[in-house]
Amino acid sequence: MQQVSHFIGGRIVSQASRFADVFDPNTGRVQARVELGDAVLLETAVASAARAQKGWAATNPQRRARVLFEFVRLVNRDRDALAALLSSEHGKVIADAHGDIQRGLEVVEFACGVPHLIKGDMTSGAGPGIDVYSLRQPLGVVAGITPFNFPAMIPLWMCAPAIACGNAFILKPSERTPSVPLRLAELWLEAGLPEGVFNVVMGDKEMVDAILDHPQIRAVSFVGSSDIAQYVYGRGAAAGKRMQCMGGAKNHGIVLPDADLDQAVADIVGAAFGSAGERCMALPVVAPVGEATADAVRQKLEAAIDGLRVGVSGDPQAHYGPVVTAAHKARIEDYIALGVSEGAELARDGRGLSLQGHEGGFFLGPTLFDHVKASMRSYQDEIFGPVLQMVRADSFEAALDLPSRHAYGNGVAIFTRNGARARDFAARVEVGMVGINVPIPVPVAYHSFGGWKRSGFGDLNQYGEDGVRFYTRVKTVTQRWPADEAHAGDTAADGFVIPTMR
Ligand code: NAD
Repeated sequence: MQQVSHFIGGRIVSQASRFADVFDPNTGRVQARVELGDAVLLETAVASAARAQKGWAATNPQRRARVLFEFVRLVNRDRDALAALLSSEHGKVIADAHGDIQRGLEVVEFACGVPHLIKGDMTSGAGPGIDVYSLRQPLGVVAGITPFNFPAMIPLWMCAPAIACGNAFILKPSERTPSVPLRLAELWLEAGLPEGVFNVVMGDKEMVDAILDHPQIRAVSFVGSSDIAQYVYGRGAAAGKRMQCMGGAKNHGIVLPDADLDQAVADIVGAAFGSAGERCMALPVVAPVGEATADAVRQKLEAAIDGLRVGVSGDPQAHYGPVVTAAHKARIEDYIALGVSEGAELARDGRGLSLQGHEGGFFLGPTLFDHVKASMRSYQDEIFGPVLQMVRADSFEAALDLPSRHAYGNGVAIFTRNGARARDFAARVEVGMVGINVPIPVPVAYHSFGGWKRSGFGDLNQYGEDGVRFYTRVKTVTQRWPADEAHAGDTAADGFVIPTMR
């Protein structure tokens, strides 16, 4: 059986007494086992990172950026193999695996320009002969803890700005999809990154706690489910670390009566069921305004859903593949049963789907609920599967209230032809990322990504300028130089010269 180990100090390190299974979601079979590290292993990684970081921080920013440029080239060279590996552990179709890599690479491309963003500020002549300048310096050793659903993109969101700014990075990827992060470590090394600047430690809660408690790790970026994000945020902040913790989501697609309904429905179906709904920016709730809109949207949704093809992740015709594990599949099925027991109308039931030749795979057909109410737990919780819930709103204000009052506040989309309405909605909705006729409004790499409420704990977003701020700290220097004796009396500063021997 293939074993997935750690990557420390520029080489694969095998050291574990505990393991977790890595499944092939297409077949349900265990395809590898990943080592689960502990605090002792982390110590080795931190020591290696701390040693490497000093030299890396002293390397001029443009030379550091050249390593990032080369890394982009190497990932593009190996893109097909990376996508196949990613999809074999996650279950997302190959096109989605390419998207996962692409959106991550865009952040690396952005980080190639980091030298410009860490130049600092200067005021010459803040007082007579006095200059003030601020420097952006790296934090030292920093860490990232990532979820299963974007094994390339989310590690790259974190490590690219961190490394470009001169930090050493320790990644703790999801134990369910560990192989692509390990491969990225090898590519960083090949790109010329010094040994120890990028390390991968595999593990579960034990490793996460060790990271949160380690005194030399200055900052931790986390992406995962909300309860764990809140726990990680609290424990890390209590240990004095800078923290940014992104959590779960329940994103709404609001459809106004004047929307292009065919386009809106096509967008919503792609955003609700793509990647089997396992995206934090998926649209698992559709809220049409008015009964006539709702009836029309439902009819179109049913037709579109009936045309969806669920298949193995390597099937180029498939719209989506299996979910990640049997346990996750069972959890989604439980939520479907809950929705039924809470009184929602089950318009399409995705349970019981079996693919010929892949009977052990973790497949679920698309599920559609209508007449879902805001009081239902199946609406309030994140399901994270191919389940779309329709909540009928009787007015624009009622539709605006739904995402605004929901505990999560990651993304939201509004579909309309009315610019004034859309603008008003975007201004007032209590959600961090808004799409106007854009179903998955993941900001481009030079903006930044972050949700509100239970979708995000901490002040700074992922990537963009916020990412640079997160991985650097500002030092401000106020300087006054004694006058040069040879030119004494030449400058206005002389009156302020610090008393000297003269
Ligand atoms: P998860 O919370 O189970 O795991 C995330 C990370 O936390 C993993 O590395 C895991 O090993 C670790 N972990 C798990 N249990 C832990 C515990 N008890 N204590 C400490 N650490 C623990 O999340 P997941 O299932 O891998 O990913 C799906 C979730 O991530 C969804 O909720 C999704 O919405 C969310 N997500 C959010 C974003 C975002 O940017 N907001 C992006 C992607 C995914």
